[in-house]
Amino acid sequence: MLPRDVMTEVQRDLLDWKGLRRSVMEISHRSRPFMDMMQKAEADFRDLLAIPDNYQVLFVHGSASHQFAMIPMNLSKNGVADYIDTGTWSHKAIKEAEKFTRVNVTQGLKIDEHGINHLQSFSEWSLSEDPDYLFYTPNETIAGLQYHLIPDTQELYGKDVPLVADMSSCILSEPIDVSKFGIIFAGAQKNIGTSGLTMLIIRDDLIRTTDDKVPTLFRYQTYKDYHSLYNTPAVFPVYISGLVFNWIKISGGLDKMSEINHRKASKLYHAIDSNGFYHNPNADSVRSIMNVPFLLEDESKNEHFIQMAESQGLFALEGHRSVGGMRASIYNAMPESGIEKLISFLEEYALKIS
Ligand SMILES: *Cc1c(COP(=O)(O)O)cnc(C)c1O
Repeated sequence: MLPRDVMTEVQRDLLDWKGLRRSVMEISHRSRPFMDMMQKAEADFRDLLAIPDNYQVLFVHGSASHQFAMIPMNLSKNGVADYIDTGTWSHKAIKEAEKFTRVNVTQGLKIDEHGINHLQSFSEWSLSEDPDYLFYTPNETIAGLQYHLIPDTQELYGKDVPLVADMSSCILSEPIDVSKFGIIFAGAQKNIGTSGLTMLIIRDDLIRTTDDKVPTLFRYQTYKDYHSLYNTPAVFPVYISGLVFNWIKISGGLDKMSEINHRKASKLYHAIDSNGFYHNPNADSVRSIMNVPFLLEDESKNEHFIQMAESQGLFALEGHRSVGGMRASIYNAMPESGIEKLISFLEEYALKIS
């Protein structure tokens, strides 16, 4: 979901953006108003995440899945890359990387004898000696599994191995230390704005495509050299992102987001854990603050549950089609009152059914 204030602003801007008597979609992306807007979006994004000066912010075309290919295309030096397989998204990243480089995979997910999901600790990872980079997915969106600490590659390898993170579903949910990463990327449609744009943060020295065969728009160098304006950017998603960055800033920044997000998640997990009608299969220490999956003890009620929830204005609670069950994705724009409404519904539903 998008913040209501942002949606209202978009609605107002749609026929007349900044007094131009046109929408942002109907002006040149090389015109002053557009370029100013994009610069401000970048400045706000940098500000929110306290991005150091030796990192570039790139507005890249397409989806997070494009990065599964672009990363090995740009970072491989004919060596090997280390990948941690923690679920659906990291698995897809691995499949794609194998087209470009040798991949050393660590199985990062552990299921204990009670069926509870855990993530391997960093020291359990089986890593190679000298990989081009280490790729992991801090928040596995579908299973709702999250690493709450950042691996330190200096410690793990005894040298600087670039850490690459797919933060599509956790970016901007709380402050992070960007200097620990080589690349952070995030498809915009989950916690930023709308699809068609991927935000990428990359350390300067990693912009180094050596293979001439890598097409122009698949090189990070191109996005850097042309300030993400080599060709027409994803105009509308860039505009929406700018509005959302600004909304986060005026809402109190990432410290505030983090405080609210942790409170939202812990209330919801508590409601699920304390009611015998529901359960969440993930160990406490690796539960996501953004994606909260849960199962009904009586799974024959799944469809009925969804219908009743929708009738109360509670949407998008179906789990991902690959796993079933339910999932509440509680990104930044979901207000705390939405969580409270869901919790009341969970309680009422369990009472009604039992
Ligand atoms: C949703 C998601 C993706 C895929 O995003 P697309 O933009 O649809 O390619 C990749 N990684 C993670 C962690 C996601 O949550």
